Amino acid sequence: MKTNTRLLHDRFAGDKANTGATLTPIYQTSAFGNATAEGLEAIFQNRAAGYAYTRIGNPTIASFEQRINALEQGISAVAFASGMAAITSLCLAVLSAGDEIVASAGVFGGTIGLFADLQQFGITTRYVEACTPEALEQVVTPKTRLVFAEIIGNPRLDVLDVPAVSRYLRQKGNILFVVDNTLATPILARVLEQGADIAIHSSSKYINGSSNAISGVLVDSGTFRWDAFPAMRDWKKFGPYALTSKLRQNILMDMGPCLSPMNAFLNSIGMETLGLRMERQCSNALQLAAALEHMDGVVSVNYPGLASSPWHETASRVLQGGYGAILTIRLGNREKAFQVINRLRYAVNITNVGDIRTLVVHPRSTIYAHTPAEACEHAGVTEDLLRISVGIEDIEDLVEDFAQAVQ
Ligand SMILES: *Cc1c(COP(=O)(O)O)cnc(C)c1O
Repeated sequence: MKTNTRLLHDRFAGDKANTGATLTPIYQTSAFGNATAEGLEAIFQNRAAGYAYTRIGNPTIASFEQRINALEQGISAVAFASGMAAITSLCLAVLSAGDEIVASAGVFGGTIGLFADLQQFGITTRYVEACTPEALEQVVTPKTRLVFAEIIGNPRLDVLDVPAVSRYLRQKGNILFVVDNTLATPILARVLEQGADIAIHSSSKYINGSSNAISGVLVDSGTFRWDAFPAMRDWKKFGPYALTSKLRQNILMDMGPCLSPMNAFLNSIGMETLGLRMERQCSNALQLAAALEHMDGVVSVNYPGLASSPWHETASRVLQGGYGAILTIRLGNREKAFQVINRLRYAVNITNVGDIRTLVVHPRSTIYAHTPAEACEHAGVTEDLLRISVGIEDIEDLVEDFAQAVQ
């Protein structure tokens, strides 16, 4: 081989190398060659494990999927380019025109936007103020196929009673229960064990931890029966892998919302410290919430870890090892809220959550800037509300910083 041929065709370390590398490397490659025509045919016919094209599968992405699947104790996981891509892909995979979704009113804004977009395809969504068996009983119809709720509502910080909702839906039969577990992560809540059929994550948040890569992931319990889902008819033959097979071989294949290997790698690295970070961030959040409750200038503090939260009892049952790391405070009026943001030295003013840095935002003038007043009221978004996503800084510094800012 001459140089240019060698550059393309020599056997460089590649995937067969036994280097002892501690991390699955970044397979920054679009396609995977096969030694034989029969080999590639077998992969396409699902007779052999292997890789063909990164839109459908890639070893670095698979490594990330296997990690999250192991944490959530699911049967299989599929990663996507973003949390929104994961939620969209799930809806497109399982729903048909005429189906109905029921969602809790406080879900992530992008999710509300998506459900509105699905109307165009004949899929309608009804909202419940809080996702409880009693509220669901009022809106569930024979057409309801999917119930979607977040483990911790944001910014209302209500906590979903996963076992209670699961019991109710199992008794109704054939309604898929999807829990967006982004804010608790599998460290605080293994929602599949608690009765959810599907766990969804925006892994852009705590799983990544440093806000350096957007990604999403879906984990399937493998227990749901798809009898009432015409969209799943041809996939039921894959048994517990029906959904994840369809997501790969149909949604990722035809629509292409795949994760990039680089971002899968960054999220895998982030995941290695998820447990440590959640422990620290939850402990910081509890201490900061308790300190803020006693500060002059703070009208009220909302945090599921405080006895004053209406969701404290549910949170104590559903979450283990912490109450999440998001809290909100009310400061009396918008001017005061702005003043606190401008005075804070460490908290970054930003519309994000789940970073190792403490983040703060005034939801009414940013995330909810174009939301009608009535909807803001339902979501608990007032003019004087600040949302704080607590990071891993030293708690003494955080308390001191907030104390000087709220004066
Ligand atoms: C951020 C977020 C999403 C959307 O995820 P992206 O990765 O930003 O697309 C969905 N649900 C929740 C609860 C989120 O916080």
